[in-house]
Amino acid sequence: MAVPTIPPPPFDPALDTIDQLRAVGREFHRRGWSLGTSSNYSVVAGRAPLELTITVSGKDKSVLERDDFVRVDAAGVPCDGSERKSSAETLLHCLVAELVPSVGAVLHTHSVWSTILSRADCARGAVRIEGYEMLKGLDGIVTHDTCEEVPIFANAQTMPELAARIRARLVAADWSDPKRPPFHGFLLSAHGLYTWGRDLAEARRQIEIHEFLFEVVARTRSFPAGAVATALTDQPQSGQGDPVRPAPSIDRSQQTAQRHQQ
Ligand SMILES: [Zn+2]
Repeated sequence: MAVPTIPPPPFDPALDTIDQLRAVGREFHRRGWSLGTSSNYSVVAGRAPLELTITVSGKDKSVLERDDFVRVDAAGVPCDGSERKSSAETLLHCLVAELVPSVGAVLHTHSVWSTILSRADCARGAVRIEGYEMLKGLDGIVTHDTCEEVPIFANAQTMPELAARIRARLVAADWSDPKRPPFHGFLLSAHGLYTWGRDLAEARRQIEIHEFLFEVVARTRSFPAGAVATALTDQPQSGQGDPVRPAPSIDRSQQTAQRHQQ
């Protein structure tokens, strides 16, 4: 008789920082957002000078040990005296921690849906997400009637060049409204998502919300044209005399067939 698999314990903010990061790794691996040795996670360990605690390069995120982390300075260089090395992408964590106000944690994942969407929309420069209730899970968004543009940067293996492009975008953004940041994360094309939060719990939540929304947006595109209307096009405009359009009929057998193809 098969022994039932016991899921890992949920994220617990009462754990110390390293154990919180390890729990994030177990959860994100289980949910398919950090498979293999992909992804990296960091928390701000100090502000004067800026230092981050970040995952060591090349580790399976489902089984992170307590010594699978390294402390780095603002340039991403290890500063804890250890021989441990972090990913080349450490520089991007440092950028976010330096330039986005009030950041306490930065999380980077490689999910299926972020990979697909970031590639599909790379030429446009952003994934547009509009009209979804779940947008309210992102910091400062209070209504579904919101449009979030998640920037996309072409992927690169030359980290200083990629970091320079991202730095320019983060510097140009207006972060002055504490209630509504201009965006909550960014994508690397055909690669994955970066997001952040004031602490690890908030960053974890923003990964979860982005991932939900990416899946919704990507799956919606697989429906036949017109089968899923947006909230905006579904609602008649008062006073304009527009006829109420009937709800689009959805061929459920077609939907089922499409699901089986995915
Ligand atoms: Zn990556």
